[in-house]
Amino acid sequence: MARVVITGGAGFIGSHLVEAFLARGDRVVAVDNLLTGSRQNVARHEGSPNFEFVQRDVCQGIFLSGPVDAVLHFASPASPRDYLEHPIPTLKVGALGTHAALGLARAKGAKFLIASTSEVYGDPEVHPQSETYWGHVNPVGPRGVYDEAKRYAEAMTMAYHRVHGIETRIVRIFNTYGPRMRLRDGRALPEFLSQALTGLPITVHGDGSQTRSFCYVEDTVAGILTVLDKAGPDPVNVGAPGEITILELAKKVIAATGSRSTITHVPAMVDDPRRREPDLTRARALGWGPRTPLAAGLERTVAYFREALAAERR
Ligand code: UDP
Repeated sequence: MARVVITGGAGFIGSHLVEAFLARGDRVVAVDNLLTGSRQNVARHEGSPNFEFVQRDVCQGIFLSGPVDAVLHFASPASPRDYLEHPIPTLKVGALGTHAALGLARAKGAKFLIASTSEVYGDPEVHPQSETYWGHVNPVGPRGVYDEAKRYAEAMTMAYHRVHGIETRIVRIFNTYGPRMRLRDGRALPEFLSQALTGLPITVHGDGSQTRSFCYVEDTVAGILTVLDKAGPDPVNVGAPGEITILELAKKVIAATGSRSTITHVPAMVDDPRRREPDLTRARALGWGPRTPLAAGLERTVAYFREALAAERR
């Protein structure tokens, strides 16, 4: 039985990770300042002897008594709308927060895993993106606050590995979706689902020809655990293949919800990546691969959104 600290434990992916560790019999400390996370996401574990919640901004340091076996740093705004709204907290949690989380791992002799992102590749010039590609990022554009924070976080993680010899992992997470995404966090899938289920027009940015590849959250979490257990210090992409255009995604959401919503085109995001799909060679060599087809994952996510929207109306 291990004791694991998850920063951002009340967030979307963080809360699914909490669940996965508890299910394997580990003890979990979730640390979150609830800027974009929600206590509701971990409510079912409150009172469990294996679960502890600490409301705290990780930039202020994480001080815990007792042993810690692994620190997973997932705290950060992650939707473009969120990080454009909170640019300085995004930069701080990627820089100061990563430093604090690494400091905790070092003090406890724990393994460290940083939640990095496909955004480190920026608007990529190579396709699909493999971990050896260094990326194409605009440091001074609006998205730079997230992209550069995560790039810095990767550099800091490698420095702690090289200087202090701590065991580190870097996982570059591609677009992930599923239950517990915020209804209106601004990302394509939650936005489209909320719009479709309430009869609002579906807002496609630009002409919708930009692409993404969507991974179901259970698969992403299994990938993260595989990287933690089996990878070395080099970055590993975790995501799904199956690149689709955002316009196709909007149509799939309309079909999956049986909605009568129409599609409307609104201005494109600045520096929006044109194409994105992970090269999964490294992750597959560790024995992991995504399993959930988009249609199946979408069905479960639609059910969650229906319920959450109904709860909101009550
Ligand atoms: N997008 C869109 N309409 C929305 C929200 C997002 O067309 O209401 C587009 C966005 O411009 C991007 C893609 O969908 O091209 C994926 O955006 P998301 O915010 O989900 O994640 P990203 O991959 O950009 O971080």
